[in-house]
Amino acid sequence: MSISFFTGAATIRAAWPRLEQRLRTVAESGRFTFGPQGQELERAIAERTGAKHAVAVGNGTDALIILLRAAGIGPGDEVIVPAYTFFATASAVLHVGAEPVLVDVLPGSYAMDPAAAEAAITGRTKAIMPVHLFSQMADMRTLRDLADEHGLLLLEDSAEGIDMVQGGVHAGLWGKGGVLSFFPTKTLGSLGDAGMVLTDDDELATTARRLRSHGQQVDGSYEYLELGYNSRLDEIQSAVLLTRLETLSAEIERRAEIAARYDAGLAALAPAVTVPWFAPTAEPGDPVYYVYLIESDRRDELVAHLTEHGVGTEVYYPRALTEQPALAELPGAQHPVPVAIAASRRAVGLPMYPDLTDEQVDQVCELIQRFHKETP
Ligand SMILES: *Cc1c(COP(=O)(O)O)cnc(C)c1O
Repeated sequence: MSISFFTGAATIRAAWPRLEQRLRTVAESGRFTFGPQGQELERAIAERTGAKHAVAVGNGTDALIILLRAAGIGPGDEVIVPAYTFFATASAVLHVGAEPVLVDVLPGSYAMDPAAAEAAITGRTKAIMPVHLFSQMADMRTLRDLADEHGLLLLEDSAEGIDMVQGGVHAGLWGKGGVLSFFPTKTLGSLGDAGMVLTDDDELATTARRLRSHGQQVDGSYEYLELGYNSRLDEIQSAVLLTRLETLSAEIERRAEIAARYDAGLAALAPAVTVPWFAPTAEPGDPVYYVYLIESDRRDELVAHLTEHGVGTEVYYPRALTEQPALAELPGAQHPVPVAIAASRRAVGLPMYPDLTDEQVDQVCELIQRFHKETP
């Protein structure tokens, strides 16, 4: 048996005739960095998310850096972020010269604990930046109230958040702005790197458009107002994403079916194995399964068992950010984060992508069941 942690081969094969047509258009156009495909993608994503502005950039990490810069975050500022997330959430804060302050998360959503965030606020705190991980959003009502009460900016690392909605508001649009990543494994993945800044703020959007192109005036004149980056989205990736957008809703539905099948197949193993569960802030429309994350008391043994039987897994995340060598010594990495550390020892992602068949999902469930029977 061989079930990869991730593959999109069948999905791409099904989309190939439409994709080929768009790729040929790009190849023959003479326009390869941000151009007509990118503009069409920005319009499509703005429409889908309800964002007033969608600014396409090279990848999700650049989107975070550009969002933070455009929001005015810089040296001397502290930004509160969760300790359980991808490295880029914190590294982006450091890249703009500010200091990430890592706080604990809540069980279930793995998202920023509002009480922990409140306890970490100092006179230098400029923003809070919650992250929406795996399949559901952070508790945005509470976090927005917290930001408002303390006069802080609310930014979102919504890199995983395409189609995630809470209270009718898409991920990334609860505060000043957010991002999307189109990294290949993401719910909407390109065939390379791609990302976007989402915002309803006209000024932030204009600054982001400048920053992605060296700080150049958006009218295209060779006048540079500030130091920016070379982070334009390739036309080829935009063409891929526009093609894949056509089937995104169906793919998200398929992901939900797979999740329900895992839920049913693993239910009897509780409490040794727990399946994803949803905070009361989740609502119909949620969840969007980018990752199907389970927790196990014997995670590492279970991973070894699945690997031995040809099933790919991915540990998200093997360390809390406070335990990362590049971050551990920071003043902002000294808060206790017991929930994040426990999750880093217990959590593992199972295969979750539209290519998976029901039989493959059943095989993964049987392997996990057998592991618990044979080695109780
Ligand atoms: C994927 C991801 C990023 C970074 O996106 P890239 O496109 O890989 O640069 C940032 N934050 C989170 C939470 C992510 O999942």
